[in-house]
Amino acid sequence: MPTIFTHTLVPIVLNQARKPEPRSRWVLVWGLFLSILPDLDSLSFAMGIAYGSQWGHRGFSHSLLVAAGFAGILACFRFHGWSRVQVWAFIFISMASHGLLDSLTDGGKGVALLWPWRHARYFAPFRPIAVSPIGAHFFSARAFEVLLSELLWIGLPAVVLTIALRQSGRGKNH
Ligand SMILES: [Zn+2]
Repeated sequence: MPTIFTHTLVPIVLNQARKPEPRSRWVLVWGLFLSILPDLDSLSFAMGIAYGSQWGHRGFSHSLLVAAGFAGILACFRFHGWSRVQVWAFIFISMASHGLLDSLTDGGKGVALLWPWRHARYFAPFRPIAVSPIGAHFFSARAFEVLLSELLWIGLPAVVLTIALRQSGRGKNH
C-alpha cells in the first residue's frame, strides 16, 4: 500500500468537485472509510493466510468488483443533494483507487484487481511509488523515502487536481 492516509486523498480531492448547493457529507465520510478499508486485509498475515492467497493482503478486498459492490450498496440509500449515480461513482472511485494506487507501488505482491474472474496479481506498467512497510515496520528509515515518493506522485497531483476542480466550480457559478 501507499501509506493508509494517502488513500484518503482520493475522496478528499473528489469532494472538491462539489456543486454549489449544500449536500450530505455522509458520502464523503463513506468514501474516506472505504478508501482505506481494503487494507484491513493486513490482518490476514496474523491469521496465517498467505500473501499470495486470494484472501490475503491485496487479494479480493482490493478488487474492482468489491468496490463496485460497495458503491452499489450505498447507491441504494438516499443522500441529500446526491443522485444515485453520483453516489455510486464517488464511492466506486474512492474504493477502486485503493487497489489501483497499490498497483503503482514498487514492492510487495501485485493487486487482485480482477478478482474473482482472475486471481492473478497485477502491477501497473509504471511503478513510481515506494511501497509502505506493513504494520510495525512503518516507522523505519524507509518511511521517509515512502512519504517523499507519495508526496511527489500522489500529493502533488492531488493539489493540482484540487485547484483545477475548485477553479472549474467557481467558473460555473459566474
Ligand atoms: Zn492496499
